[in-house]
Amino acid sequence: MRLILMGPPGAGKGTQAKFVAEHFGVPAISTGDIFRANVSQGTELGIEAKRYMDAGEYVPDEVTNRMVRNRIDEEDAKPGFLLDGYPRTLAQVEELDGMISFTGHSLDAVVCLTVDPDEIVQRLLQRAQVEGRADDTEDVIRRRQEIYVEQTEPLIEVYRERGILVEVDGMGEVDDVTARIYAALDDVAQS
Ligand code: ADP
Repeated sequence: MRLILMGPPGAGKGTQAKFVAEHFGVPAISTGDIFRANVSQGTELGIEAKRYMDAGEYVPDEVTNRMVRNRIDEEDAKPGFLLDGYPRTLAQVEELDGMISFTGHSLDAVVCLTVDPDEIVQRLLQRAQVEGRADDTEDVIRRRQEIYVEQTEPLIEVYRERGILVEVDGMGEVDDVTARIYAALDDVAQS
């Protein structure tokens, strides 16, 4: 199973990614988590990524693409993977297509979580208090949302045209959203 989980910042991708990946027995690969791990370990990649992340900007495609390529080359990702937070730009879509077709496989589905924008700001501000993420301040949240609309939202149409987009209502209880994702992916598996 090769899946992408998409949605605006705060849509609950990270939370759902862990459940869905476990359900399908594939690793959840979160670019945000990998960047944050590198930042906290003070690696060269982390130092470079941090200045973009703190401003709510995307890390440059070359850096992100290289990182994802290395990660999906690892043994545990051979049977499949769930990507959380990648691709986020059209250039990343192309790069990912190349990585997957090189292995003779294809993407099974792109799950897009839809949420109410007002709800999102509340969730992110609450997460700021709980997790203390450096990019969860109100200004940076707003910037991340703008960038999402400019650079990532267009990807939804790309995947819709390919016929692999699955839109799932991301509002409500975590368990309910997870159940909706499974139901939507069962439909895909049967079609
Ligand atoms: P969010 O909560 O906004 O979904 P993530 O945890 O996925 O955030 O990512 C945090 C930050 O890491 C992003 O704002 C961005 O700076 C960087 N990042 C993550 N994935 C990518 C990507 N695919 N391309 C560029 N930058 C990325």
